[in-house]
Amino acid sequence: MLIFQLSLLFLSFIYLSIVMIIFLFKERVVNYDTTIYKRMLLVSFISFLVECSLYLLSLFYNKNKIISEIFLFDSKIFVCIVLLWFFLMMKYTIYLYLHHKDKNKTDISNKLNYVYYIVAIVTIFLPVSFVITENAGYTDGPATKFAFLAIVLCCIVMLVYLTKSKKFVKNKEFVPIIILLILMFISTFIQATHPWLLLFNHLISIVMIIMYFTIENPDLKMMNELEIAKKNAEKANEAKTEFLSNMSHEIRTPLNAIVGFSNSIIEDKSLEEAQNEAKDIIMASENLLEIVNGILDISKIEAGKMEIVNVNYNPLNLFNDVAKLIKPRIMEKPIEFKTNFSSDIPGVLYGDNGKVKEIITNLLTNAAKYTDSGWIDFSVSCINEKNTSKLVISVEDTGRGIKPDKIDKLFTKFNRLEEDKNTTLEGTGLGLAITKNLVEMMGGKIIVQSKYGDGSKFTVYLSQKIVSMIDDSKKEEKEDDIKDYSNSRVLVVDDNNLNIKVAVRLLKKYNISPDTVMSGMECIDSVKNTKYDLILLDDMMPKLSGVDTFKKLKENKDFNTPVVILTANAISGMKEKYLSLGLDDYLAKPIERDELDRVLKKYLKNKKS
Ligand code: ADP
Repeated sequence: MLIFQLSLLFLSFIYLSIVMIIFLFKERVVNYDTTIYKRMLLVSFISFLVECSLYLLSLFYNKNKIISEIFLFDSKIFVCIVLLWFFLMMKYTIYLYLHHKDKNKTDISNKLNYVYYIVAIVTIFLPVSFVITENAGYTDGPATKFAFLAIVLCCIVMLVYLTKSKKFVKNKEFVPIIILLILMFISTFIQATHPWLLLFNHLISIVMIIMYFTIENPDLKMMNELEIAKKNAEKANEAKTEFLSNMSHEIRTPLNAIVGFSNSIIEDKSLEEAQNEAKDIIMASENLLEIVNGILDISKIEAGKMEIVNVNYNPLNLFNDVAKLIKPRIMEKPIEFKTNFSSDIPGVLYGDNGKVKEIITNLLTNAAKYTDSGWIDFSVSCINEKNTSKLVISVEDTGRGIKPDKIDKLFTKFNRLEEDKNTTLEGTGLGLAITKNLVEMMGGKIIVQSKYGDGSKFTVYLSQKIVSMIDDSKKEEKEDDIKDYSNSRVLVVDDNNLNIKVAVRLLKKYNISPDTVMSGMECIDSVKNTKYDLILLDDMMPKLSGVDTFKKLKENKDFNTPVVILTANAISGMKEKYLSLGLDDYLAKPIERDELDRVLKKYLKNKKS
């Protein structure tokens, strides 16, 4: 029988050790559940140790009087410890009931502890005896009977609170209590017939294991991760707020110039004065457009909607065009602008020329912005292998340079280094973030070398397919080869008078005198009376939008005039949306000359050709 009792002990030792190791070494939150569980675990372990000592002492019972006395006292301690465990479990049951009733209730009165102290003291003072049977020995007497009664009382209280918590009893926290009550019921019967079989420790260990999985013990790791995510979200929000206030400043600056110069044009006495101010207005408007385009680009990149559009292009023409475009800006300061394009650059490459242009423009604009004197060098060399040309595009300046510890932040969006120094220079902190994204989208790489105070060098490595080493195609129409579409009839539909004026001015350059109307209904009426070659239709109009007008026009089966939608809504995916609705083409406002050129060429007949 001793063997059987020892194996039971050994089993509960294993259970308890496993739970203790897992519970004590795992990061955990301190709440009522975990605190009470920790206490119960400790009590279980002490009860296990005391039970072991009882076994040892029982071997010498009756052989030595002192040992016998120690044994009897030890049995009372053991009984008190088991009682304490049940008492804690009872407190936990009451806590669960109260907590589920009222979430703010996290602790229960400590007055209950006094009940335990009284019962424990009474147990200690009551006599106990050791009964030896032919199977094995067990403790008996008033002390154990009294403690057992107290344990049964604890179980009754638990049962009462369990019934009171009927509504929440399905919650997992109640499972160990229910199991404990069932096991208690069974073990009381076993104990009645086999009093030497001490099942309490075993029962406690089983309940402790089950309870480990049911106590409210939120995962600290997950909580930490959530905390980090929250902090990151807050940081992103701060960056956005900063960006918005920065942006409103950026947008206001050119707008201010536009409004101011426009007002003074009205008052100007000479044409020359007016022309000069108009030039400033154009510059400020281009600046504004650049800002808006930057925002659109970054939103496209972030939404994964930025697409690579590969075409055949002449790289040398492209580099020269960008250099020509940026030159006036550089020339405003005492800066020498050097260009150096290696002679082995192929005549025709296949790639996204628009993006290559944007990358170089961004780098050159920055060089111009952040350099006050000295020189800026724009060089392109290449390594031609089979049908690929590895372009090495570099923009070097003798500007202010970048501090080494700031280089990491350079390509982060909305990040402007040295805010204090930058306040007088326009910029949004988007340029380099966009540039890096574009370069990487095309499979390239961008590298920065900079010495603070001396200058910077940005180098882009980009591979493009070689179509031909020489460009034998005729140069397309010269820039100033204005087309003549005077024989074409064009209708412009826009609810905004200013927009109509702009469109009429732009079309005048092509010798087109368009008809103009200010609503979708008027457009439908005009089409009934006149056969147009092209309709430029604004989308955002009150009552009948451009798209609705187009749908109404299409209801007439004979209607076959090309319709080009005009919209300021140039966010990613809009073009595709309009084309999928059946519209022939799309022009973003403000209308760009090149785009208008393309559309007119596609839909109208050039008189000169
Ligand atoms: P923006 O120029 O609109 O501020 P960018 O993303 O183009 O935004 O540049 C981010 C920051 O990097 C700039 O604010 C500037 O401090 C720094 N920077 C970029 N190019 C240069 C350069 N060539 N020389 C010195 N600093 C530069």
